[in-house]
Amino acid sequence: MPVVQKNVGGKLGIYVHIPFCRSKCAYCDFYSFAPGDETIYERYVNALLSHMEYYKSAVSQRTPDSVYIGGGTPTVLPEEQLLRLIRGVRHTFHLAKNVEFSVEVNPATVTYRTLVRMRRAGVNRISIGLQSAHEGELQGLSRIHSRGDFEQCFQDARRAKIENISVDLMFGIPRQTQESLLGSVDYVTRLRPEHVSLYNLKIEPGTPFYKLRHQLSLPDEDMEFDMYRAACAMLEKRGYKQYEISNFARPGKMCKHNLKYWNCEEYLGLGPSAHSFFNGTRFSFIPNVQAYIKGIEHIASDIGITVSSEEIKGKARMGEYIMLKFRLSDGLPLGEFQRTFGSDFLELYGAKLPFYLKKGYMVRRGDNIALTHAGMFVSNYILSDILTFEDLNAISPANQF
Ligand code: SF4
Repeated sequence: MPVVQKNVGGKLGIYVHIPFCRSKCAYCDFYSFAPGDETIYERYVNALLSHMEYYKSAVSQRTPDSVYIGGGTPTVLPEEQLLRLIRGVRHTFHLAKNVEFSVEVNPATVTYRTLVRMRRAGVNRISIGLQSAHEGELQGLSRIHSRGDFEQCFQDARRAKIENISVDLMFGIPRQTQESLLGSVDYVTRLRPEHVSLYNLKIEPGTPFYKLRHQLSLPDEDMEFDMYRAACAMLEKRGYKQYEISNFARPGKMCKHNLKYWNCEEYLGLGPSAHSFFNGTRFSFIPNVQAYIKGIEHIASDIGITVSSEEIKGKARMGEYIMLKFRLSDGLPLGEFQRTFGSDFLELYGAKLPFYLKKGYMVRRGDNIALTHAGMFVSNYILSDILTFEDLNAISPANQF
């Protein structure tokens, strides 16, 4: 195990990565693939259950209050395997009574029956990947579902009494216009999900989109900013308060699990490529499912499948805190920074702030300094300008921009 097996109390998030998809979307650089051999599903769930068992004693004093099964596409797992996994999480860990238990869902891979069984097994929140409400844009992204599949899935989830639903949308899609993006936002918000995520499509190296990047008809940066600003405004108007660069929620429905990442709280991530921040150490597991299963099948410790491990303290902790807090709409609380690090944020990093405040990229609200929409859109640039070279070098790659 990459961290000391000390058993400390407190809350915790649990993340479980499912690295399978029915087919690969052209823009995706997550670790996921379409398996040729379906026997892998049962072997993989067995490996996850063993890995959980391995952490059981280290987590026995914790009360996990969020669980997130993500991917990949968790609903690509055969129903029995997915339910075995959900029940395994509940049986292994002492989950809080008010736990937020989320599963990511692809609309083309789930039925009403599965949703009912998921809810009965303990799932109380789903996140549905829609991305766009326009068929042409969905096809351009090589998504495997239609808008009709999404609508069926959403209605099925409501019928299955899942009362907390998040929907993912994207902007910056090839050929997308501001009008079509607002059409998608309008369509989704009329269904009244509790939560909406709005991500900027990035063309990542190694993806089919990257190879085609010169032929894709992509909006330029100014157009993207106009789209982002207009979509944020429509979401706010419809009652979805922005609480993070890409996330919007109705009152009381912010994603508890994702807030752990941005508030520098601890979580344990299981599965190939999953990252953890546990007992003060950040680590991740090998992004290869066969190697992961093999490693777990012969487990005496999980050192063999750990690809990075670093205790987070000093400069690295401070740098990560700044980067993560500025993702939130509330921004960085100056008093909390002082209490946590014993230093004054403005003395250490204040030199460049007047420029960003004056230009409208940042705003001061009481004890907090936050990015405005304009600042959020170029947050990578602003943070790399504020932080020193030394800070940036100290930050774990998993938390860099
Ligand atoms: S469904 Fe999600 S994880 Fe799977 S390939 Fe598409 S974007 Fe990637």
